[in-house]
Amino acid sequence: MKSKKLGLNTICAHVGEVPDEQFKGAISPIYLSSSYQFIDVDVKRYPRYFNTPNQDYLSKKIAALEHTETAMIFGSGMAAISHMFLAFLKSGDHIVVQNSQYGGTTNFIREEFPKLNIEFTFTNGCKLEDFETAIQSNTKLIHIESPSNPLLTITDIKAVANLGKLNNIVTSIDNTFASPVNQNPIDFGIDLVMHSATKYFGGHSDICAGAVAGPEVLMDKIWNVSKNYGGSLSDFTVWMLERSMKTMGLRVKAQTKNAAKMAKWLDKQPFVKQVYYPGLKTHPDYKLAKSQMKGFGAMLSFELIDNIDSNQFMKQLKLIKASMSLAGIESTILSPAQTSHALLTPEQRKDIGVTDGLIRFSVGIEAVKDLKNDIIQSIATIKN
Ligand SMILES: *Cc1c(COP(=O)(O)O)cnc(C)c1O
Repeated sequence: MKSKKLGLNTICAHVGEVPDEQFKGAISPIYLSSSYQFIDVDVKRYPRYFNTPNQDYLSKKIAALEHTETAMIFGSGMAAISHMFLAFLKSGDHIVVQNSQYGGTTNFIREEFPKLNIEFTFTNGCKLEDFETAIQSNTKLIHIESPSNPLLTITDIKAVANLGKLNNIVTSIDNTFASPVNQNPIDFGIDLVMHSATKYFGGHSDICAGAVAGPEVLMDKIWNVSKNYGGSLSDFTVWMLERSMKTMGLRVKAQTKNAAKMAKWLDKQPFVKQVYYPGLKTHPDYKLAKSQMKGFGAMLSFELIDNIDSNQFMKQLKLIKASMSLAGIESTILSPAQTSHALLTPEQRKDIGVTDGLIRFSVGIEAVKDLKNDIIQSIATIKN
């Protein structure tokens, strides 16, 4: 099947199915062998080689969704990021990283790279100049995140990709927040796309996984390193992930529609100081987001006015769960300062605009009126 010509939901539903030659079942069988024949075979299969039948086939779906040649599935989003980084960086090399991004990625770099003698520069912002000025003669990788966690900043993907090409530097993006449903960075020239598959790929808050997709020449380098570190995913979970991804197009589109409505509504409420959502015309990079995203995504952040305690607000919600992580079909809400960015120092948080009152909202598939009513009742309860 030439996946490039297929529609999004067809790719989600069908590309990378493991054919059931024996019984002709409608879904992929699950192969749990950790031991495969090595004589007279084209591929020597082993779970940690990322090439069991279930791993191999699901990778095709991910590659097709990201408009690229191949992909690898990891045990977590952080395994995907760390293996990708370590494939292109060795002692004495340098990486340029966007300042506003997932807290775990920042922690990985700050805590591990000094031990490995890998140099790093966090940019001052997300503009092209911020990346240009951070490049050194030993820079080997530029890593961006757009939209970013948790403030939904937008980075010009094409501009950064061109900057990389001009300087012979590999470029990578964390595409978790958008998902391939809303953004395909490879189309704008980025070399590698990674995902926390724990989020929209899984979509039901019951899977922890990660993925990297890209051209074979670069993915081979990642494979060479990853087989040594051993961050592969169990075939049970790979199979679960395939099941989840069949509905990713449907889910994420419904969630994106809901998020746009919630962002517009929140923006008009007297108890809200500010809304961060790239689909709002007031977002500083609305036009850029529109030029590189198919949809604006289902994540948004907002700040309540000063006299409302955000913890009280989250506690009084009845439908929207105050819970870690994001991207499930159920709406969840959290404080980045207390969770994803808790390990950063207060100073580091202030630098990237993560205030104590900031609330990150992962919009689910519920009826929008129910989400609005839940927020209204919470505000009313804490005001009394
Ligand atoms: C959650 C997340 C990660 C890390 O993924 P895990 O699956 O938790 O390891 C990386 N980047 C972004 C943007 C995330 O939201």
